[in-house]
Amino acid sequence: LLMAYEPAKRLARMQVQLENGMVGVKIMYDLLDMDLTIDEKDGAQPLSVPHGEVRFDDVHFGYAHDQKALNGLDFVAEAGKTTALVGASGAGKSTVLALIERFYDVSAGRVLIDDQDIRDVTVASLRGSIALVTQDTFLFEGSVHENILRGRPGATHEEVRQAARDANAEEFIVELASGYDEPVGENGGRLSGGQRQRIAIARAMLRDAPILLLDEATSALDAESESKIQVALERLMQDRTTIVIAHRLSTVRNADKIVVMDHGRAAEEGSHADLMQKDALYRKLHDLQFKV
Ligand code: ADP
Ligand code: MG
Repeated sequence: LLMAYEPAKRLARMQVQLENGMVGVKIMYDLLDMDLTIDEKDGAQPLSVPHGEVRFDDVHFGYAHDQKALNGLDFVAEAGKTTALVGASGAGKSTVLALIERFYDVSAGRVLIDDQDIRDVTVASLRGSIALVTQDTFLFEGSVHENILRGRPGATHEEVRQAARDANAEEFIVELASGYDEPVGENGGRLSGGQRQRIAIARAMLRDAPILLLDEATSALDAESESKIQVALERLMQDRTTIVIAHRLSTVRNADKIVVMDHGRAAEEGSHADLMQKDALYRKLHDLQFKV
């Protein structure tokens, strides 16, 4: 019980603006970096991730007693594949990511990674197996190098640089007056939106976790940054289990599986072609969101 309310209290304390009262993904990252008091089982074992399958098994969850954010959610994100979550605002997409990170615990059902209930494993091993990239991943006031290093403290400078290259970030980093030592400013404010995103991708590259949670940016970037970020993300998603809250048509079209969420459940699932043919909820969302 304590567990469910603790994050909410912290959110209130942090005085962050909640977009429509939902878990902002930036906040999720802040929480991830914070030393959250988590209810870890006595004798919890490290999570073992030989494959990286993520499974929601009849998951129920509400932020308050009288409200249900997830209402019997079932889906499998297959190992190494990309699963796109789509659905109207409030359908429960961000909540799915929050539960995988264990910012909250389910009220019924189970979240399983390679058949292990995530409540049975150590929190450090769980979070160490996950990289989270969002539209405004938290950058702290430090250098570019320190911000990337956060992905895997202890990595060498060369590993940081390789991650930056893979994220298409090195090209702008070397143009900065102090290069990797350049301070990013409070919340990364000295960088552009596209640059901040590439730092976040570099951090995730360095982390090299088997499970990637991605909340695609909705804010428009210039076409050049957009395509560089796309290329970097595709590289990042390669050979990892990716669960992406998809806002781009290209992402849903390319996903191995699309889970269409409606009122905290999986209303439909399948490939883009399957779901278009079915002519139900996905098609409606698709036609609305992508203005066909
Ligand atoms: P989506 O990401 O699909 O827009 P969310 O997972 O953010 O949906 O929200 C699912 C439901 O849970 C919505 O009814 C939303 O208002 C509610 N909700 C989300 N976050 C919180 C929170 N921190 N406190 C209370 N209610 C929340
Ligand atoms: Mg959301």
